[in-house]
Amino acid sequence: MKIIMLGAPGAGKGTQAKQIAGKYNIPHISTGDIFRANIKEGTELGKKAKEYMDQGLLVPDELTCDLVVDRIQQDDCKGGFVLDGFPRTIPQAEALDAALTKLGQKMDYAIDVDVPDENIVNRMGGRRACINCGATYHIVSIPPKKEGVCDTCGNELVLRDDDKPETVQKRLNVYHEQTQPLIDYYTKQGILKSVDGTQPMEDVFASIVKILGA
Ligand code: ADP
Ligand code: AMP
Repeated sequence: MKIIMLGAPGAGKGTQAKQIAGKYNIPHISTGDIFRANIKEGTELGKKAKEYMDQGLLVPDELTCDLVVDRIQQDDCKGGFVLDGFPRTIPQAEALDAALTKLGQKMDYAIDVDVPDENIVNRMGGRRACINCGATYHIVSIPPKKEGVCDTCGNELVLRDDDKPETVQKRLNVYHEQTQPLIDYYTKQGILKSVDGTQPMEDVFASIVKILGA
């Protein structure tokens, strides 16, 4: 099963993608996580990506597409994968389609996690991410057992630099301009499914399982 998670930043794509990956036993591929890992390791890619991420801008397609096209050809992707945060532009979607066509494959579902802008600002302000394993929480709706500490690995939880209020509005504008057109793109391909992302996390997941099948 090959799935794309669509939705505004903070809509809950990562939260749901992790659960999908667990239930269907497929890898969770998050371009945001890949960039953050590169920043942490101080790689050339990380240095370049950080310049854009800190400003709430998209990392250029040239730095993003090949990375994903390579990743989906690794052995663990043979049974499918869930893409989280990619594609984010029409050229990225076209690059993905071109690569899959070459491999004789195609995407099965593009799931739009629909959350209005009003809720997004609160979601991103309350998001806390583990500096070590990348697990995400929300200080009100999905809190860790112990404040400021990751349930999974015990490391510190932080507010991401790009979740600061001054960057959030910029990221939302970028989403509407560059990423939202993908909803039409995948509607035309007949694979778009929409779920109400304002529901509690478990209910959003149940809606997704209904679409994908148990
Ligand atoms: P995205 O990957 O789309 O940027 P996340 O999955 O990181 O979004 O979720 C953004 C924030 O909202 C996180 O703090 C997460 O814990 C919280 N969150 C995710 N899903 C829900 C939900 N259904 N209801 C309330 N909060 C949620
Ligand atoms: P995310 O973790 O998905 O919220 O992504 C964090 C940031 O990484 C984004 O705001 C972008 O700057 C960058 N990024 C992640 N995925 C992509 C992508 N597919 N294309 C361009 N930039 C991306």
